Amino acid sequence: MAKTVKSKKIVSAVEAMYGENVFSLKVMKECLSKKAYESLSKTMNEGGVIDPAIAGEVAASMRDWAVSKGATHFCHWFQPLTGSTAEKHDSFIAPDGQGGVAMEFSAKELIQGEPDASSFPSGGLRATFEARGYTAWDPTSPAFIKEGEDGTTLCIPTIFCGYHGEALDKKTPLLRSSAALSKQMDRAGKLFNVKPVTKAYATLGPEQEYFLIDKGYYEQRLDLIQTGRTLFGRKPARHQQMEDHYFGAIRPRILAFMEDLDQALWKLAMPSKTRHNEVSPAQFEIAPIYERLNVAVDHNLICMEMMRQIADKHGLVCLLHEKPFAGVNGSGKHNNWSLVGTDGKNWLHPGANPHENAKFLFTLCAVIKAVDVHADLLRAAVASPGNDHRLGANEAPPAIISIFLGDQLTDIVEQLEKGEPKSAKSGGTITLGVDVIPTLPRDATDRNRTSPFAFTGNKFEFRAVGSNMSPAAANVVLNTIVAEAIDEMCTQLEADLKAKKDFNKSLQAILQAIIKKHKRVIFNGDNYTEEWHQEAERRALPNKKTTPEALKAYESEKALALFEKYAVLSRKELLSRYEIYMHNYKSVLSYEAECAMTIAATQILPAGLEYQANLASTINSVEAAGGKSKTAKDSLIKVSALIEELSLGIASLESAIEAHNTDKMKAAMLEVRKPADELEGLIPADLWPLPTYAEMLFLY
Ligand code: ADP
Ligand code: MG
Repeated sequence: MAKTVKSKKIVSAVEAMYGENVFSLKVMKECLSKKAYESLSKTMNEGGVIDPAIAGEVAASMRDWAVSKGATHFCHWFQPLTGSTAEKHDSFIAPDGQGGVAMEFSAKELIQGEPDASSFPSGGLRATFEARGYTAWDPTSPAFIKEGEDGTTLCIPTIFCGYHGEALDKKTPLLRSSAALSKQMDRAGKLFNVKPVTKAYATLGPEQEYFLIDKGYYEQRLDLIQTGRTLFGRKPARHQQMEDHYFGAIRPRILAFMEDLDQALWKLAMPSKTRHNEVSPAQFEIAPIYERLNVAVDHNLICMEMMRQIADKHGLVCLLHEKPFAGVNGSGKHNNWSLVGTDGKNWLHPGANPHENAKFLFTLCAVIKAVDVHADLLRAAVASPGNDHRLGANEAPPAIISIFLGDQLTDIVEQLEKGEPKSAKSGGTITLGVDVIPTLPRDATDRNRTSPFAFTGNKFEFRAVGSNMSPAAANVVLNTIVAEAIDEMCTQLEADLKAKKDFNKSLQAILQAIIKKHKRVIFNGDNYTEEWHQEAERRALPNKKTTPEALKAYESEKALALFEKYAVLSRKELLSRYEIYMHNYKSVLSYEAECAMTIAATQILPAGLEYQANLASTINSVEAAGGKSKTAKDSLIKVSALIEELSLGIASLESAIEAHNTDKMKAAMLEVRKPADELEGLIPADLWPLPTYAEMLFLY
């Protein structure tokens, strides 16, 4: 007995189920002919479209695999500009004419779909007579199975575009920007004389924050149901000031949710790794192991969907809004991004030898240049009404985009700028191509939590992304701006090499010039302070506080030319996005304003009036009975004044809505909220119509 146990490899339940719902390379190797497998795995690694000659075989084996897993339907799974994902299901059935059916799935059905695009936003790109949209398989992201209650669906990740190939989704520009970046990294690889083993690609590990609250409370809050955030609510006496929730023991009910979530994600080969409590009560985080950018984005979207579904099974609701509760921390998504070169190595990993150092400093300077030149685009990419509540609220990074490098790396960069050979701080010298940069200890790089764009050891972490957003837009911008920087640096290096200049000298001169010009974007201090805001103004760094201001960057000639040059988005495509995002901003503010008005008028005001009437009759009866009514009278005066204030607020809100004026709506919503939240502190708990912050944040 003992012998068999010893010699038998123990396969854990996780290993057995990991990726079981994915049509992965492993599954393909088993199901496909050698020729089809090799062709498809090449496409998966390098991008592009599937070879039509093998599409029939791939479709047939995908169908067999899916049907064996209980699939009755397939769908093209895509990412329209609405912000969520979309899918249209078709069953596999094909009647055989004799009362039975066969399960069919053709190459064409795998490769291309034609959902009616007229109900998806196109920002004027698609006239109604061309309402047709096309979805096309993105083979770099594997097909997967979604489990339902009574059956499963084969999901095929696709791009979504219009009749003339105009991008109508978030995946298309992501793939195009990845290709642009890869192309420039390829040039860099050649210049640095590395042995190519792969196409260059970006990696992403998005950390996702979220709230969980009890479904019973959620259902009693029209604001949460309709807008995803609380439009009213008094801060409870205790919230996050004890700082005892962060990394605290996870409550059993939440842990059960997290366990379920991990299992569901692992089945889909989404490498969920870390789970913990976050800063605010009822706030949590999930983080995966990083993957290729495109797949990581798809996995993040799947993760968000699973979080909502699995929470529901546990009687919970997952709130992904950037700021569901005023007065406590909001939720973000930390976009950990790095670059793998053609040598298969991370080029943002500081040096083990002089050659690696040169690659590292080259890439680092490319990012510094890119972020400084296009800080406005990074800001635009994270602009949303939800994120407006978060950015700059002293818990999330400010709207000013700056880079944190840490003291040690800043010291190295400064020496590089001066061209001085010796450094006291790092102990080494930094003439390129000669010496080694010390490996940067994590502690030296990662302790500033206030920076929007921080170097964290071997990657950059863009922290301004909102929790509810697809990470796509931020990475489209990152890929494209870094591609441009690398392009310009390579062009200079290639010219210098042609002129027979020394490579290291030329590189050093280029990096020096970049640091001189762009070091204003580096800031290692506390991003929350007033001094930084003033300093940033002196440095002329943009500070766009609201979505409409931030989105303007997409309309600029600089942006239009950039995205056009790298074939990421045509002018028309970019302008259409600007329009959609502006429209979205206005829609969100309008429905928030209307919802606030409804709650104020139909729930809060009546509660106030009822309490007012109770007080009045108390006063009358107490006085008739010869008692003292001073306390009740004082309360009545206070409550009556707040009711008046509330009524005025409701009137302002009404006129702002009628005037379609978003700025006025924002102001009027605050005007209504102030007396409403004060009333919550006066009105007896059994009369108050809404679950309180204390209940929602602490009782789950
Ligand atoms: P911390 O929690 O201190 O921010 P971690 O190293 O645990 O740092 O990473 C956080 C996230 O960054 C994880 O999702 C991780 O997978 C991701 N990450 C780590 N290395 C890379 C990389 N080279 N490229 C992209 N993401 C990365
Ligand atoms: Mg982090």
